[in-house]
Amino acid sequence: MLRLPPFRYLAPRTVEQAVELLAQEGEQAMLVAGGTDLYPNMKRRQVTPPVLIGLRAITSLKTMSGSPEQGLRIGAGVTLSRLASHPLVQEQYPALATAAASISTPQLRNMGTLGGNLLLETRCNYYNQTEFWRRSIGYCMKKDGDVCLVAPGSPRCWAISSADTAPVLVSLDARVRLVSARGERVLPVRELFRDDGLVPYTRAWDEMLTEVLLPPADGWRSVYLKLRRRGSFDFPILGVAAALRLREDGTVIGARLTLGAVASHPVEASEAAGLLLGQRLSPELIDEVAVTAAKRAKPLDNADLTINYRKQVTPVFVRRALKQLMEESTE
Ligand SMILES: Cc1cc2nc3c(=O)[nH]c(=O)nc-3n(C[C@H](O)[C@H](O)[C@H](O)COP(=O)(O)OP(=O)(O)OC[C@H]3O[C@@H](n4cnc5c(N)ncnc54)[C@H](O)[C@@H]3O)c2cc1C
Ligand code: SF4
Repeated sequence: MLRLPPFRYLAPRTVEQAVELLAQEGEQAMLVAGGTDLYPNMKRRQVTPPVLIGLRAITSLKTMSGSPEQGLRIGAGVTLSRLASHPLVQEQYPALATAAASISTPQLRNMGTLGGNLLLETRCNYYNQTEFWRRSIGYCMKKDGDVCLVAPGSPRCWAISSADTAPVLVSLDARVRLVSARGERVLPVRELFRDDGLVPYTRAWDEMLTEVLLPPADGWRSVYLKLRRRGSFDFPILGVAAALRLREDGTVIGARLTLGAVASHPVEASEAAGLLLGQRLSPELIDEVAVTAAKRAKPLDNADLTINYRKQVTPVFVRRALKQLMEESTE
C-alpha cells in the first residue's frame, strides 16, 4: 500500500488567512483543495510538502454567481460534480459542463475542484509512477533525475497538460483571479500556462487561485470532445474545445479552437479558427480547418496510445467538434 508522507495540515477559514499562512510557511508549503491529484502525487513521492494548507473550510471559494448576460463567477473550490450539473453551465457554457463531467469518477468529482483541475500537475508515462518504479529507471528530470527519458537530448521536460477544463476555459476566453498576501491580479486563463512540463504555471508560489470568471455567453456555443482509452474514466490523451459565435444567417463571427493533452500547455489553433471567420460552416470548410488545427498537435511518446494514432485522430476530433456545432446551429 502506498502511504502519505508526514505533513502538517492547516485549515484556514478565509482566503485572507490562507494566503497569510502561505506567505508565512514559504515555498515548501502547498495548497490542497479536493486532494484528488495532490494526495496520489504525494503517495508516489513526486511531491513531499512538509505543510499543507487545506481550502475546504473556505466557504467563499464554493460560490457561483452571475448570469448569461453578465458572465459567471465560479469559485475555485466549486466541485466538478456541481459544475457538471449546474443548469446555467449546461445551457450556456456546455463545453465546460461536458469537460467537468468527463473528469475521473463520480466520487472524485465530488471532491475534485475547478481550481485543482486548472492547476493539475503535468503528466507523463515516466513520471506518473511509484517512487520504486521511477528509481528503477534512474528517475527523470521532472523529479530526482537530470535527463528527459522521452527526449533524452532535450534540455526541457515535455510532461503534458492533461486538465480537461483547461482547453475549454481557454476557448471560452475565461479569466482567473490570483490572490496573495501582496495583493491580487486577474489574468486571461491562457496566461496561466507556460510551455514547460517542469514549471507549467505562471502562478507565483504564494498565490492562490480564488475564482474563474466566464465572460457573458453572448451567443457563443461551445463543445468539448475527449479522447481516452477507457470511456468510464481516464485522463485525456486529446481534448478538443471549440467555441463559435454565429450570426443569424449562419456566418461565423467568432471562433476559438484549443487542443488539450498535446503539449505542456493548452494549445490554441488560432490560424485554423481564423479560417472560419466570415464564412458559413460547410463540410469542406470544416475539413480544411481540422487539418490546419491538427498541425498544432505534436504529441510525444509519453502518453497512452501511439503517437501516430494520436496524430491521425486529431483532425478527426476537430472535425467532429465543428460538425456538432454546425448541426446544433441548424436545429
Ligand atoms: C483515478 C483518477 C482519474 C483522474 N482523471 C482525470 C481526468 O480524466 N481529467 C482530469 O482533468 N483530471 C483527472 N484526475 C485528476 C483530478 O481528480 C482532477 O484534476 C481534479 O479536478 C483535481 O482537483 P482537486 O481539487 O482534487 O485538486 P488538488 O489535488 O487538491 O490540487 C491539485 C493541484 O492544484 C493546487 N491547487 C488546488 N487548489 C488551488 C487553488 N485554489 N489555488 C492554487 N493552487 C491550488 C494544489 O496545490 C495542487 O498542486 C484524475 C485523478 C484520479 C486519481
Ligand atoms: S517529459 Fe521527460 S522530464 Fe518530463 S516527466 Fe516525462 S520523462 Fe520526465
